[in-house]
Amino acid sequence: MEVYRLVFSPIEVNTYILADGSGKCAVIDCGCYNRAEFDRLTSFIEAKKLEPVLLLNTHCHLDHIFGNGLFLEKYGLGAYCHKDEDANRRDSVPVASIFGLKMELPPEPAGLIGEGEIVKFGVSELKVLFVPGHSAGSLAFYSEKDGVVFTGDALFAGSIGRTDLRGGNYDILIKSIRENLLSLPGDTIVYPGHGESTTIETEITNNPYFT
Ligand SMILES: [Zn+2]
Repeated sequence: MEVYRLVFSPIEVNTYILADGSGKCAVIDCGCYNRAEFDRLTSFIEAKKLEPVLLLNTHCHLDHIFGNGLFLEKYGLGAYCHKDEDANRRDSVPVASIFGLKMELPPEPAGLIGEGEIVKFGVSELKVLFVPGHSAGSLAFYSEKDGVVFTGDALFAGSIGRTDLRGGNYDILIKSIRENLLSLPGDTIVYPGHGESTTIETEITNNPYFT
């Protein structure tokens, strides 16, 4: 699987494009803040000759869903997320104004997904891992075959997600990461919602929250 990362919005969120050689691709967290950023995403997808067939959200904090409306408009694909994230989606417009940002209410999810489910695109599969604690319905997406996991704002390189927002809980986040992420094979590449990639082994060894 090829994993491409584009960084969008004033909040610098990672948007991932996953391609597997089938010509189809999945997008995780479409964070395009405006049409110019969305054009950058679509140009990238076209240059790689990919066809988006799946949009996933690790969670629905505003920075991870900025581009969901434009994605639906362009590709006819709504997002899949956990049921406990809809409150964040519905609140995103007033929360954006607190940050001095503007957005339209992102569309309703195309479907709800939860722990242990398998989502498919092209010839690939991703297992849905439930990693609450940064938000109530945070998910990670894991491919054992490709040795990659997309952790949203649960686990970062050298850090963890904040737990002071609605649905956040420090103890639950630590437990989620220990049980559902750090238990993965050490050489699994971690692609977080912000910042650079890392590996599970590196985080077990170096992440100050777990050493
Ligand atoms: Zn978040």
